[in-house]
Amino acid sequence: MSTTGDLRRIFKARVINPIAADRVDRYEPGYLIVAGDRVERVTRDDPRPALPFAEFIDLGNKTILPGFVDTHVHLAQFGIMGVGSGELLTWLNTYTYPEEARLANPDYAAKVAREFFDALTTNGTTTAAVYSSIHEEATDLAFSAAQAKGIRVLIGKTMMDRNAPEALLEDTEASIARSLRLFEKWDGADNGRLRYVFTPRFAGSCSMELMKRVGKIARDRNAFVQSHLSENIDEVAWVRRLFPNCASYAAVYDSAGMLTKRCIMAHCIHLTSDEIATLLQSQVNVAFCPYSNRTLRSGTMPYQKLRDAGLNISLGTDIAGGPSLAMLEQMQEAMTAANIPWSEALYLATLGGAKALGLSDRIGNFESGKDADFVVVDQSSVREVYVRGKHVEGN
Ligand SMILES: [Zn+2]
Repeated sequence: MSTTGDLRRIFKARVINPIAADRVDRYEPGYLIVAGDRVERVTRDDPRPALPFAEFIDLGNKTILPGFVDTHVHLAQFGIMGVGSGELLTWLNTYTYPEEARLANPDYAAKVAREFFDALTTNGTTTAAVYSSIHEEATDLAFSAAQAKGIRVLIGKTMMDRNAPEALLEDTEASIARSLRLFEKWDGADNGRLRYVFTPRFAGSCSMELMKRVGKIARDRNAFVQSHLSENIDEVAWVRRLFPNCASYAAVYDSAGMLTKRCIMAHCIHLTSDEIATLLQSQVNVAFCPYSNRTLRSGTMPYQKLRDAGLNISLGTDIAGGPSLAMLEQMQEAMTAANIPWSEALYLATLGGAKALGLSDRIGNFESGKDADFVVVDQSSVREVYVRGKHVEGN
């Protein structure tokens, strides 16, 4: 709770505050006033005369940005970040599935989770939507690690009830039961900072029965859903063969009832106009992962077309498809792939992500009353990270 009685701190630096895709407010210099764990306001006028008891921190010529929001990232692939190449389906079978199977070991899963959340915050990410492995225990450990770190996350146990290696294959009922137990235990925990997200991996590895169950559960409980859509040409063709009665890849998820405004679909590269209309009608959020798309040679998401159609778009690092957890690097990739200015890439990495996760009233920029999650950037590197006003990284 932030009240006027809380300890105030004034951070002086260049402050960049994203307001919309086509608008950022710059304060050079600016004063970010933090009261307790919340943003009080940003101002160009030196507030010290009016706040004589506030702590003053002069960050010189460094820059303050909102904490980054990574809306598509695989914790279970952290151990193979930067490893491997090839295209999606080969890459999954050769590198990804064997690594994810290792998370059946709770000691290994706990170690990966700890290291993952450390690396995430070191890179300035203070909120994320995360894919765990299929394992219930590993996912439970991931929530505990996120809670220990104190950041906001949505985490989901990956669901796969067909077309997966034996070690990662689940019975439909077991997959649902495990996911529901995790949802009951963690959704809304840690003062609402932890959320569960139902995570059917993609239509290739899920039966229609599984996806329909997920769709109904999510609608009944107002729960989040995340999955992959239309990443790679071979994958699109394969999914069309698996679901011959559906008119398109997006139609598979639509007929399962998974598409809502609480749904985050990664990639969305090879979509038809009808598919774009379907996503728009359902207010689905699109996680744009340009670095992963380049690395796996998946193609280029038609960013401007999707944006101009009215879809909410955010950024995802998609490790280990992408080789880096750094949202600053992801922003550079987005600028090239989508032909957009840095300010728009910053919006995608912050407020766009907050909107995708239903959190734009809490995080994403420096509006008064939001959580004081911010990063201090120096020459394009993250130097310091604050979560709700608390210093968690850097010096
Ligand atoms: Zn992914």
